Amino acid sequence: MSQADSRAKQLAILKQRKQLSVEEYLSGIRAGHKGTLSRAITLVESHKKAHHEFSREVIEACLPYTGNSVRIGITGVPGVGKSTFIEAFGEYVVNQGHKLAVLAIDPSSGVSKGSILGDKTRMEKLSTRPEVFIRPSPSQGSLGGVANATRESILLCEAAGYDVILIETVGVGQSETLVHSMVDFFLLLMLSGAGDELQGIKRGIMEMADTIVINKADGDNVRKAKMARREYANAIHLFPPAPSGWTPQVQICSSVENSGIKEVWDTIDSYVNHTKNNGYFDKLRSSQAKQHMLETVESFLRDSFFNSPGMNGLLQETTGLVEEGKVDAYTAAKKLVEAHNSLNRE
Ligand code: GDP
Repeated sequence: MSQADSRAKQLAILKQRKQLSVEEYLSGIRAGHKGTLSRAITLVESHKKAHHEFSREVIEACLPYTGNSVRIGITGVPGVGKSTFIEAFGEYVVNQGHKLAVLAIDPSSGVSKGSILGDKTRMEKLSTRPEVFIRPSPSQGSLGGVANATRESILLCEAAGYDVILIETVGVGQSETLVHSMVDFFLLLMLSGAGDELQGIKRGIMEMADTIVINKADGDNVRKAKMARREYANAIHLFPPAPSGWTPQVQICSSVENSGIKEVWDTIDSYVNHTKNNGYFDKLRSSQAKQHMLETVESFLRDSFFNSPGMNGLLQETTGLVEEGKVDAYTAAKKLVEAHNSLNRE
């Protein structure tokens, strides 16, 4: 079943089932019922206005129980071994006594029916563990909408007691920036022996990484992986110092042989200690929240402008005038915004 089909099925189930109250959602989520958590996430992802408004109430009720996790972003091109790495890493993290939630942002979700992260069942072993909750990417909507749903899903997972949250995405610039804007730690998974071009990795993405992990360091690949580690470490050295005061690490691992996995977790642990001690951890979360609020204001304003029935005619007419060169774009835009403001005052 494709992600879109399974989402449609979930929504249908949501319709048939008895509506839960906000209190029932909260107590189910707090008690760790994965079914209730899934239903709450389905609400958050829903495009129905009523669902969305209700989901706001659920999130607000959950809010006092959020924030107590390490949010980790993980990216890398298809085939680099993300799901294999998450299996191995997740197993290790859970064995350390943590509860792990794995969320995803698939940049292709809104664009086509296909998905880059793949509809295949991933992380089969991990998904059977009771301490693990895995949720595929929302399959519909704009990338911004998908990212919002993921931000809210993080809060729901935290309220359910998941203290390590992995958010996976795939090497496309915009989705990586979005994931980066909602996590504490950003991990870039790479391969050795493939040029940067080949891996589609832009310098900007390397600069976002708190650690670069070169995967598939096994068999004949170990020597190449070690060489790549040196090269990336040299390249990273030339970047400006990060505001966190943290020096990004370059590590090697083999997700199939389970080597280097503990070291990745140790790095994340050191990063969290380092940034909690110097205040950056909280500062980053506050600035992410502020940025998210400002972006939401922008998107509300945009929606209110473009979806306002009173603006339709004027917008079309003014667009025509600008296209014909009869009015300059700046004056036209200013008049349109003024018209929108006075409509809202009425
Ligand atoms: P994703 O597309 O990034 O999620 O990549 P997958 O996890 O599906 O892995 C792609 C392929 O690489 C699969 O055939 C994996 O078995 C293989 N793979 C993943 N990690 C490793 C590793 O550490 N070593 C080796 N040799 N193969 C790996």
